[in-house]
Order: sequence, then C-alpha cells, then structure tokens
Amino acid sequence: MADAQKFDLIVIGGGPAGYHAAIRAAQLGLKVACIDRWIGRDGKQALGGTCLNVGCIPSKALLDSSKQFWNLTHNLPVHGISVENAKVDLATFIGRKNKIVQQFTGGVAMLFKANKITPFLGTGKLLKGNQVEVTGNDGSKQILQAPNVIIASGSVPIELPFAKFDGKYIVDNAGALDFDAVPKRLGVIGAGVIGLELGSVWKRLGAQVTILEALPDFLGAADADIAKAAAREFKKQELDIKLGAKVSKAEIKKNVVEVTYSDKDGEHTLTVDKLLVAVGRRAYTENLLGDDTGVKTDERGRIEVDEHCWTGVDGVWAIGDCVRGAMLAHKGFEEGMMVAELIAGKAGHVDYDIIPWVIYTEPEIAWAGKTEQQCKAENIPYKVGTFPFAAIGRAVAMNEPAGMVKMIAHAETDRILGVHMVGAEVSELIAEAVVAMAFKGSSEDLARIVHAHPTLSEAVHEAALSVDKRAIHKAN
Ligand code: FAD
Ligand code: NAD
Repeated sequence: MADAQKFDLIVIGGGPAGYHAAIRAAQLGLKVACIDRWIGRDGKQALGGTCLNVGCIPSKALLDSSKQFWNLTHNLPVHGISVENAKVDLATFIGRKNKIVQQFTGGVAMLFKANKITPFLGTGKLLKGNQVEVTGNDGSKQILQAPNVIIASGSVPIELPFAKFDGKYIVDNAGALDFDAVPKRLGVIGAGVIGLELGSVWKRLGAQVTILEALPDFLGAADADIAKAAAREFKKQELDIKLGAKVSKAEIKKNVVEVTYSDKDGEHTLTVDKLLVAVGRRAYTENLLGDDTGVKTDERGRIEVDEHCWTGVDGVWAIGDCVRGAMLAHKGFEEGMMVAELIAGKAGHVDYDIIPWVIYTEPEIAWAGKTEQQCKAENIPYKVGTFPFAAIGRAVAMNEPAGMVKMIAHAETDRILGVHMVGAEVSELIAEAVVAMAFKGSSEDLARIVHAHPTLSEAVHEAALSVDKRAIHKAN
C-alpha cells in the first residue's frame, strides 16, 4: 500500500455532525478529509447522512406536502374555499422530496469544494496511531493519517427480532419515505418522533394509521400537559394510538402484515398493508474501530466521550448520534463545531441543558429545558405560566387555535427552567425560549419584551406574564 496521505483532520462520516466539523475545521485553516459511503439516487456520493438522505429533510418535505393536501380537504372549507376531487399524484409528491434531498446533498458537496475539504467515497476504519483505513466503495484501500480524527458515524434504526425489515411490507424510516402507493392500512410500532411524523404523512393522504406503543404513557419525554394536549388533537385527526401495546409477532401473509400484540384487554391481531417499525435508533459503530485503538464503547454500543466529545485517546473525538445524548441533527452540528474549534486551539462548548426538541406533527410540539415532572423529581421549587393559542388573535385568524405555551420558572429566582409548546409553528417559536434560557433570562424578562401584534409569539409573552398571574387575555 502507498504511504499514508497526510491531513490535519480526518472526519469519518459526512452527516450533520461530521460535515459541520469538517467545514468549521477548514474555516479555521486545517487540511481536512471527510469519508462517507452514502450513495444517492444519481449514483454519486450523497453527503449529509441520515438527516439529508432519509431523515430530517425528506420527512419535512413529505410533511409539508401532505399538510397542503390535508388543508385542502379539511381546513379550507372553513375559509369558504372548496375544491372538488382533490387528489394526490404520489410520483410528484415523492419526486419533489427526492429533488430537495439531491439539492441539499449536492449543496454539502459544493461547500466541501469551496472549503477545500477532500471527500473520500468509502468506509473509514480507525486504526492505532490515528491512522484511518479507507475502503473505497469500489473495494480499493488506502491509508490516511492525521493528528486528529473525528468519528461521526451516526445511527441506524433498531430492528425488532420478530419484525425484521424486508423493505417492502415491514419498513424503516427510509422505506416509509418512499411508498409507491398510499397504504390503505398502515401499522406503526412506536409512538415516538418518527412514528408520529411519518404516521401523520400517510394519515393525511388517506391511510388508516394504527400506532402501537409499548409504554402506558404517551410521549413520555415531553411535559405531561403538552403530551395530553397533543394526544387530544391526534385523536381528532383519527390517528389511532394504542398505548401499553406489546407487540410479539409480525408475519407477512399474502400481501399483508399480521401484527400480534397484547394490552390490558388481552391479545389482538392487527392486519395492515405496510408496517413501519420506529422503535428508536442505535449508534452505528460496526467495523469502525480496529484493534487496540483504545476507543471504548458503552453497553448501548455508543462511543464513550467526555463533555467535550473527547474519547480519552490522544487526538480521537466522537460526535453526533454515535455518542451519548439526544439523537438530533442540531446537537450533532454543535458538537462538530465545538470539536473543530477545540482542535484549532479555540474555546468550544455545547450547552446540553437547552437543546430544543421539535416534533413536526400538526399541531407541532416543541420544548427546551426541564419539564414540570423533572422539576418535581429534582425537588426544584417552580412556578408555571400557561397560555392557550385559542386566545391568540393570529392563531384564530389562521384557524389554528389548538394548543398552548407553558413556561416553568424557578419559584425563587424566576429564572426560566423550561418552555413547552404545542400549537401552530411552535418549531419557530421555541427559538425565543432557547435564546432567553441561554441568556439565563427570567420569565419577567420575557414579560417585559415587546412582542408584535398579532403574532403567534404573543402566546410566549402571555405565558411569561401568566407565570406572575398577570396574563391579560385569560383569567389568572
Ligand atoms: P448520520 O446523519 O447518521 O450520518 C452518519 C454518516 O456517516 C452517514 O452518512 C453514514 O453513511 C456515514 N458512515 C457511518 N459509518 C461510516 C464509516 N465507517 N465510514 C464512512 N462513512 C460512515 N433530527 C433533527 O434534529 N430534526 C429532525 O427533524 C429530524 N428528523 C428525523 C427524521 C427521521 C425519519 C430520522 C430517521 C431522523 C431524524 N432526525 C432529526 C435525526 C437526525 O437525522 C440525526 O440525529 C442526525 O442525522 C445525526 O447526525 P450524525 O452526523 O451523527 O449521523
Ligand atoms: P423514539 O425513541 O422517538 O420513539 C420510539 C418509541 O417506540 C418509544 O415511544 C418507545 O417506547 C417505543 N417502543 C420501543 N420498543 C417498542 C416495542 N417493542 N413495541 C412498541 N413500542 C416500542 O424513536 P424513533 O421514533 O424511532 O426516532 C429515533 C430518533 O430519531 C428520535 O429519538 C430522535 O432522536 C430522532 N428523530 C428526531 C426527529 C425530530 O427531531 N423531529 C424526527 C424523527 C426522528
């Protein structure tokens, strides 16, 4: 094999975490290589990982298209607008999503070029002494060497042993983003983020959607009031969510899938045309680490790192879904930039306490910081303010009055501990809460800030006023 090619930094994985690290390091003057093996529909390298290829962006494209259709059939009549024979051309629907994916994966390739980052198409394996073996998608092998290596190998869907993916009837997120016909009956295992988002897409297009969730509580990670309000809206949309449902079998039989599950009422069989399994993701670290690298993985296969994403091995870092913490693109972005800055001798930091979560259902769900349940469990004295969108002029004018904003502040210092929302466009509203919390703001700070009228952001303002029992447009 030829001599090792030398770089200042090698990044294994070109997903959101990896490509942010690569670009930031290049901006700081480092000579960077980034290895990724993902191939797009055009047969070329498709940088951007799960997020751009089969995650955040394609799912939001389909959510937006299906929302347009749902509005046409369910919301526009209220405005006095009606359309007869509305229908969806699924090839155009999916084709639009594919074009957006290609635009963005191609965009990352252009950014790499602009930043003089060298992309390698293939699989990277960390060897001892900060060397990385690259096995090209064509089978060729080469060795790269750098004082710093960042592992950003991401995650893959968890497969259930009794419901193995076949890609046609039993699918993961990638399969459910590419159905060639609207399934008459869609079963989903897991009422988590993917189950709710992709379940919503196909429900809006006319599928009968049944979601089987093993846990007795709905959306356990969210604040309980928000989860309750969201569940009420999903019920109205006829998303059938069965809680406490333990699935034991999924059998493909003559073009259908028979799913066996049991709940408090006994054993049941659900027959569906397609089954989406969305029970979480696991760190992807297979064949990634050579012998004696010193890099450790935990009991869940995640690469062990400290709060700065350092593995404990000189010059070896790991970021994004393959390490502890939330599996979110923006968490990976920030870790990538933090590590690049640390490598370049600058200060790098991620505030893990205020990473926003957004679920892009209708209404949307968003939160940052602690839930009321967490405050109780941690014995933190707190006070709560809430405000319903039904009392917000803009929300009513938009015919989107569902949901509320809930703000939790420390009972003694008034510092904002958490903000939780369900409602129209809360994916955008949550940013205000994150900024306030990052600046260690109090509910009074937000209450004293002028919010434009009429806007949805007034619900945040009123929730802040409500913490001090002085909301104007509701009885306190
Ligand atoms: P990945 O995006 O998984 O990228 C890892 C990359 O590394 C991949 O390209 C892989 O091919 C490559 N790779 C792995 N091993 C090797 C190797 N040995 N050699 C070379 N290349 C390798 N998050 C949000 O924040 N917002 C959302 O709206 C959102 N929606 C989602 C919707 C769906 C359907 C899914 C599945 C996920 C969604 N996520 C969302 C989660 C988000 O996609 C992930 O958190 C994010 O992609 C993780 O980034 P990453 O860079 O760590 O890993
Ligand atoms: P998830 O962890 O959000 O939800 C999985 C759900 O499946 C949980 O409610 C869990 O209790 C349930 N479950 C687990 N095993 C089960 C079983 N055997 N039977 C029935 N239910 C079972 O996982 P996901 O929906 O697969 O998504 C994976 C991750 O991808 C998310 O946690 C998130 O980090 C990321 N993601 C984020 C977004 C977003 O930010 N909008 C969107 C999609 C995915």
